[in-house]
Parts: sequence; C-alpha cells; structure tokens
Amino acid sequence: MSQNHSENCIFCKIVAGQIPSKKVYEDEEMYAFHDINPSAPVHFLMIPKRHFANLMDASSADEALLGRMMAIAPRLASEQGCRPGDTGGFRVMVNNGVDGGQEVYHLHIHVMGGPRPWNKN
Ligand code: 5GP
Ligand code: ZN
Repeated sequence: MSQNHSENCIFCKIVAGQIPSKKVYEDEEMYAFHDINPSAPVHFLMIPKRHFANLMDASSADEALLGRMMAIAPRLASEQGCRPGDTGGFRVMVNNGVDGGQEVYHLHIHVMGGPRPWNKN
C-alpha cells in the first residue's frame, strides 16, 4: 500500500477511472461522484484523492483539504438540486470505523438532500 493509493480500494479505483462513476466535481485534491445506492433524491460522495481510511487516520496535513471539502459542499449540493435556505438544505455525514457504520474504508463525505421523504434516515 502506498501513501496515496490503496491497492484494493474501490474509491481509489474510482479516482483512477478504473471503476466508472458519475462525476459531480473534481480538482487536484478531491473528487465527488453520485452514490450508487442513493439514500435521498440527491446523494453524492466527496472524497480526497489521497487514500486514507477515515477521520481517525487523517493527519494535520489533511486539515486544509477537509476544510475545503466542507466549504465547497453547499455549492455542489445546490448544483445537484438541493434547495436553498432553511426550508431546503442538505445533510453532510462521515461514517468512521465499525461503530460508525463505515463500509468503504476511503474517507468520504456523504452529501444528501432534496425533498423528503428519503429512503432512509
Ligand atoms: P459508508 O457506509 O462507507 O459511509 O458508505 C459507502 C457508500 O458508498 C454507500 O452509500 C454506497 O452506496 C457507496 N458505494 C459503494 N460502492 C460504490 C461504488 O462502486 N460506486 C459508487 N458510486 N458508490 C459506491
Ligand atoms: Zn482509497
């Protein structure tokens, strides 16, 4: 396993284009794509291109990127159809580890929104 890429990680393969995904956004450090099994009318995932498992594995070097991901989430949510203002909005969620219900061990931020009811939650 290298620092930047984990061999059997499906999200590293998505970043590398080895597994297809529906792109929402991309820059040098992050990639965003639609969740394959959406829990809400709008449901996409934001991931760092650099592989690390979850927030418990993040380092101080990741602080700026994590902040940037949170800061850009409202713009992407709006572009994907989340409604503005207090009567609209969206949810951001990060699952960490077994107790956090994490299934894919490459850090990802869920962004969910759109009119309720949602499938889950
Ligand atoms: P977790 O439970 O780890 O927070 O969430 C993993 C998410 O990744 C789930 O919502 C699941 O639907 C999504 N997912 C798993 N495999 C794939 C895939 O190959 N492509 C896409 N687009 N989403 C995936
Ligand atoms: Zn990975």
